[in-house]
Amino acid sequence: MTSGAHSTFTGPSDLHLHSNHSDGTETPTEVMRQAHAHGIRTLALTDHDRTTGWDEAGAAAASLGMTFLPGMELSARHDWRSVHVLGYLFDPTDPALAAETEKIRADRVGRAERIVRNIARDYDLRWDDVLEQTTVDATVGRPHIADALIARGFALDRTEAFEGILHPRSGYYEPHYAPDPLTAVRLITRAGGVAIIAHPVTMGRDRMLPVSFLERLIAEGLGGFEIDHRENTEDGKKALRELVARHDLIATGSSDYHGMTGKPNRPGENTTSDEMVARIIDRATGAQPRYA
Ligand code: AMP
Ligand code: FE
Ligand code: FE
Ligand code: ZN
Repeated sequence: MTSGAHSTFTGPSDLHLHSNHSDGTETPTEVMRQAHAHGIRTLALTDHDRTTGWDEAGAAAASLGMTFLPGMELSARHDWRSVHVLGYLFDPTDPALAAETEKIRADRVGRAERIVRNIARDYDLRWDDVLEQTTVDATVGRPHIADALIARGFALDRTEAFEGILHPRSGYYEPHYAPDPLTAVRLITRAGGVAIIAHPVTMGRDRMLPVSFLERLIAEGLGGFEIDHRENTEDGKKALRELVARHDLIATGSSDYHGMTGKPNRPGENTTSDEMVARIIDRATGAQPRYA
């Protein structure tokens, strides 16, 4: 339990979950129910480039006695690296941020169509198959193409699709528009939110940004890093913990839940301390948590 001036919230806290408003497989209400069933009491919905799930999630969280933090996972790119920036408690009506998320989502559609066209050279897959897998005007991503491949019998689950046909080196891959991380951090921060780099130290093509660049992000207002995440490497976590200590930043831990069938990640497999949740709430000026 914590904290000072504002209303109280209760851990365990999981600050990174996706619904079908982006590439999760469950409605915001179902996500809240699953999180509650996994013992979570404070949580954030962080759909990719989209905030339309907040109202339903907030209402479901309240009915379950949980504290809800509105959030988003903003797509960015630095050189060839995909960088995901979590934003918490920002103003969803901020014009600059809303325009940028609109631009990313629009380009994601054309990019997904290009990937499907590439795949269709070798597999009987159509754009309509992908549309059948998206609901509520979701932010379109490769997971929806994965679901279409599964429905057509070309993959058993999303993991298999990502390791094969959807892999960046498969020959079918196309990138989508995304702002530089400096822009992403600036947009979230100027909208009154707290910016946290998601899974900053994974293996492979999205491995850690140079420390000198991370320090530029910190100067731009970056709040901290998602350190406890199943895809972060142990060496990377150690380096991030040192950076967090040196700059007195926020360190979070979260599941990155995408639904029971979307990814193996389960709510609460990583959690954020009460102290760090309180720091996010205290720092943000764009929105308030919805307390139970
Ligand atoms: P995109 O942003 O369209 O390039 O797709 C990336 C998204 O795919 C990420 O947000 C992940 O949630 C999801 N993803 C990546 N790898 C996997 C995997 N192995 N299984 C399921 N989902 C994945
Ligand atoms: Fe995702
Ligand atoms: Fe991510
Ligand atoms: Zn995520």
